[in-house]
Amino acid sequence: MNPLPLHGLRVLVSGAGVAGPSLAFWLARYGATTTVVENAPALRTSGFAVDFRGPTHLGVLAAMGVLDELRSLQTHGGASSCVDEHGREIFGLPAEFAGGDVEVRRRDLSRVLHDRSADRAEYLFGNAVAALTQTADGVYVELARGATRTVDLVIGADGLHSGVRRLAFGDESRYARHLGYHLAGWDLPAAAVGGPRLPTTPQQYNVPGRMASVSRDDRDPDRAGAFLVFASPRLEYDPTDIDHQKELVAGAFTGGRWLVPQLLDTLPAAPELYFDSISRVSVPQWSTGRVALLGDAAGGVTLGGMGVGAAVVGSYVLAGELAVAQGDHRTAFAAYERRLRAYTGRWQRGAAPGEFLAPSTAARLWLRNALLRTRVVQRLLVAGTKSIATELDLPAYPVPADGHGLAA
Ligand SMILES: Cc1cc2nc3c(=O)[nH]c(=O)nc-3n(C[C@H](O)[C@H](O)[C@H](O)COP(=O)(O)OP(=O)(O)OC[C@H]3O[C@@H](n4cnc5c(N)ncnc54)[C@H](O)[C@@H]3O)c2cc1C
Repeated sequence: MNPLPLHGLRVLVSGAGVAGPSLAFWLARYGATTTVVENAPALRTSGFAVDFRGPTHLGVLAAMGVLDELRSLQTHGGASSCVDEHGREIFGLPAEFAGGDVEVRRRDLSRVLHDRSADRAEYLFGNAVAALTQTADGVYVELARGATRTVDLVIGADGLHSGVRRLAFGDESRYARHLGYHLAGWDLPAAAVGGPRLPTTPQQYNVPGRMASVSRDDRDPDRAGAFLVFASPRLEYDPTDIDHQKELVAGAFTGGRWLVPQLLDTLPAAPELYFDSISRVSVPQWSTGRVALLGDAAGGVTLGGMGVGAAVVGSYVLAGELAVAQGDHRTAFAAYERRLRAYTGRWQRGAAPGEFLAPSTAARLWLRNALLRTRVVQRLLVAGTKSIATELDLPAYPVPADGHGLAA
């Protein structure tokens, strides 16, 4: 006899970012058989620091047993400085503002979550869901590389541009709203931007509608990370054409001052680029039949600040509700959405990261700088994000002890 509540349930998860591996971890804990399909050839390594704030986020990480490991990987680089073109500080922001309570590189987070679930779930990299057909008993899934699977449930944890959402819910244009900005991030040799003189705390330079920032890696002094944001209408590009994306970034920052020319010089050699529009995703209902959405695919804002926190909390709740409902997806999907929709909606509604990071006019830039120079505004911002992150009573699901029946 196998007492685990999801024993025998077959789940296919699309996306091995943050939500996908977290869900795979919890589903395995409850006994489900999980396959994670990721379209990148390996875990993605680009992107920068992401953070968790408040007891709700940290509570889930602790329950997963990853909190200590993540603390050991903290960036310690959260405090940031806004500088003028000569590198003189205009204002500084405290570490908790940008870095929350635990700040780690996105790639470290994704790797830790993957490693905790890799021996309990099947991971298929370089593959994607190409077609989905729901029947009364399951979902017939065709994979892009030719194989097929029949599973009980499919979860779209494949980010803002979710492929599962497109297949099961309809075109992205119905759910994603462009917020007038794009962003780009890549790794570069620190020597290109001052080497050891470059601080490990982010230095940010603005002109209206443009923000460039750079910081040295605190664990690898030879590496640095660039992160750029620019105002623009929605750009058309092939997500797999990295050279074209680099051209778009270079075009947007041509003629820039401060360290911008040196940053752009490193762009052609960058092996990976995180390039995206800043968009808000809002899906009126997170499930349809046996297919549900999780993390940014369900609702998120690029750089919205709570993406990873909402992804791990959402995974915990979705798996917990499935376990409580003994795998009955109708009951579980409804309960998952009821518990989480207001929580994710609150931080999502007000988030305008593009306008905050790169105010679009000289007057708005001046006003932002004037406000952020004051301690009281800084304190209000830190308190506000923490209280939104905590506004959820985390249900205590009956989680089986680790290792219990997992190999069965
Ligand atoms: C490369 C990258 C870098 C990022 N860097 C930052 C950052 O620096 N700061 C920040 O605040 N946020 C960043 N984000 C966003 C942040 O990681 C998310 O808000 C948060 O992790 C939410 O988790 P998620 O798992 O829902 O989505 P994501 O973390 O975006 O993960 C989605 C995963 O699904 C994969 N995927 C996409 N389409 C398909 C498909 N059709 N089939 C299969 N797999 C698919 C993606 O490759 C990705 O691995 C980044 C996202 C990515 C993908």
